[in-house]
Amino acid sequence: MKSKNLKKIANMKKGHGWFSIIVYLIFFAFAGAMLTYILAILGYYVVQAKLAAEYESIAYMSRIYEKSLSDESQDMVWGLLDESEKEYIVRDRSGDLLFGDKDNTCSEDTGKISLSGIQQTILMYPDTEYPFIHGNSGGYVELDYFGIVKTLNGMNDENYDQEILTLYDADQEEHFETIGFYVDVTSKFQLRLPVWMGIRVNKGKEIFIGKGYLTFKMSDLSMLALVVVMLIVMFFTIFNMFIVNMVREIRSRKRSLRMLFMDIVTNGKNRTWFFYKGDAILRGRLNASYQYAIVNLIFVKYTTYCACHSVAEGEAVLRGISDCISKHITRKELNAHGAPKEFMLLLRAPDTDQLTARLNSLITDLERFNEVHAFTYQAGVVIIPPLRDAGGRIIRRKDIDIEQEYNNACTARGTLGDKEDSGIAYFDLTLIEEKKWQDWVEANCRLALQNDEFMVYYQPKYDPVSKTIRGAEALIRWKHTDDSGNDKLISPGKFIPIFEKNGFITNIDHYMLSNVAKDQKRWLDQGFDCVPVSVNISRAHFIETDLAEQIRDTVDAVGAPRNLIEIELTESAFFDDKGALMRTINKLKEYGFSVSMDDFGSGYSSLNSLKDMPLDVLKLDAEFFRGENAGERGRVVVAETIKLARKLNMITVAEGIEDKEQVEFLADQGCDMIQGFIFAHPMSAADYEIRMKEKTPV
Ligand code: C2E
Ligand code: MG
Ligand code: MG
Repeated sequence: MKSKNLKKIANMKKGHGWFSIIVYLIFFAFAGAMLTYILAILGYYVVQAKLAAEYESIAYMSRIYEKSLSDESQDMVWGLLDESEKEYIVRDRSGDLLFGDKDNTCSEDTGKISLSGIQQTILMYPDTEYPFIHGNSGGYVELDYFGIVKTLNGMNDENYDQEILTLYDADQEEHFETIGFYVDVTSKFQLRLPVWMGIRVNKGKEIFIGKGYLTFKMSDLSMLALVVVMLIVMFFTIFNMFIVNMVREIRSRKRSLRMLFMDIVTNGKNRTWFFYKGDAILRGRLNASYQYAIVNLIFVKYTTYCACHSVAEGEAVLRGISDCISKHITRKELNAHGAPKEFMLLLRAPDTDQLTARLNSLITDLERFNEVHAFTYQAGVVIIPPLRDAGGRIIRRKDIDIEQEYNNACTARGTLGDKEDSGIAYFDLTLIEEKKWQDWVEANCRLALQNDEFMVYYQPKYDPVSKTIRGAEALIRWKHTDDSGNDKLISPGKFIPIFEKNGFITNIDHYMLSNVAKDQKRWLDQGFDCVPVSVNISRAHFIETDLAEQIRDTVDAVGAPRNLIEIELTESAFFDDKGALMRTINKLKEYGFSVSMDDFGSGYSSLNSLKDMPLDVLKLDAEFFRGENAGERGRVVVAETIKLARKLNMITVAEGIEDKEQVEFLADQGCDMIQGFIFAHPMSAADYEIRMKEKTPV
């Protein structure tokens, strides 16, 4: 699935471009139509004005003719008509010639036109002469009611009639007002189009038809040309403004994207770019058959380096790292700077061995990159293999979520822990399972505490010689009922480390302490021969300065004797604030609790802490008795540790004892107590009551 962020960037890149282009296209289509319309209107009014002038002169002649019909002095009237130098004819209603030259060029066809300022509709006749005489040099001009002028040039003699008729038929059907006339191209200085106009006379019985000319002088044409040029210039100015604006907008968008994708520290690319580009590569059809690796690479000591030098110097190192990585990758791979000490890579990785070798060589180069300092690098890797359908065919990775995959690479890198050495870790699904488990634990722990899902188990500690019970350790269990109603007992190893990280451990420690105190009080009241029970207190708890008081108050509130409670501190607790730890131990002892050091010998040895801490009990870690440690050398160490503890007045408890020989050896060495499966597993309070009664292991 593409994340919202990636979709936003994709929209930024594409969406606006298309939107602008569509807006511009609509604008230009509209502007083009407007320009044509303005020109047509202009032409229409010019033609109308000229036709009206011509009409006035022919109307005048028609009135003279009409007068001649009623007048005696006809000859004078004819003279006047002839003086007008305009050709004219008179036809009756059926079209027969009543008067005038038989060879006149007035067409039989007619159309009607209305002129502005003139009431009646004028009959118009095309001139038949020009097309037949001039052929291609002439042209037929049609004026439709939109005012759009079309010139049909290049008509030959045969198809002319047919063409005109077709036009007229079509026009009449669609109620077009149409006028036909010829273009006179013989005049040098003016364009003269012959036009015959008919006026009904003699009470409508006859039609007086005069021939006029629609004349366009050079001045008219130049005026028109000027207007056309002005309009075109205007149109192109606006067009250019829009184009410039569009180019500017595209450029500014590109600049914003460049800024959005730029990493200001390395001058390379940043996290956003990595996700955007990487997503496109992984989804790409052409890349579907390649196996890729997403790598989270960190420069481990960046923060320390900046602290010792300066942030500016640290950033210079980052630039060097970025350049070095760029040299190691091809043009089809990606490198981005994701966070201060983090680099993001997308590599082609045909096989993992080769990839590991490649990453090792990159890390080696990065380590050598600054010879004065020992820089280290850690890489988390997620392999993205080609995706196949049910039939085994390779298909596009349409649903890949690069941000999630990158996060998985980070999770893999996280498994390298707090170590500062260079290393590479590959992501596998168990890490996801672990993460899911962690989320589940964190989501359910509070409710579990309220619902009393946490239970106290007791593991007895026995004297190795007399085999009698001398103490016990309280160990937590989580009894959870799942959705299908099945009970399961979750062991502390699966949730205590999570609680130690999220701080919930303090609630658990209090819960355990209070329950153990309650149990001890109840058992005492019931007449049991109680032995001290140790309670684990996590080191996370030791940052609380009043921890000793809290423990005292919890135990006192229940009314249990303090000497029946022992506090176990894990060995790693001794590495925290030593002063605070000593103060807490001293106070606990002062309040009457005994204090033990848990898991002594595991991890870092803390002989030093033995010297400083006034501890009562030393619990030897189970690892002393396992694997290689269990040999002769291990036995020497255990024997000497027991001696040392005794000299320091400390009681020793050996943990994790599983066989008889170990018990015998520990008894010989003077170990005070044994806590192990050889005698007893951790058990419920009810079972522990039986052990208290029996005193010896069953
Ligand atoms: P731990 O405090 O060192 O407890 C001893 C662990 O060793 C227990 O594991 C116990 O069941 C196991 N054990 C005892 N004898 C044998 C043996 O012979 N063989 C083997 N293989 N194991 C043996 P458990 O109960 O799973 O507890 C694990 C750890 O969880 C504890 O180690 C302790 O660190 C922590 N833990 C348990 N309960 C609590 C608690 O209430 N509070 C805190 N803070 N930590 C707890
Ligand atoms: Mg313990
Ligand atoms: Mg232990």
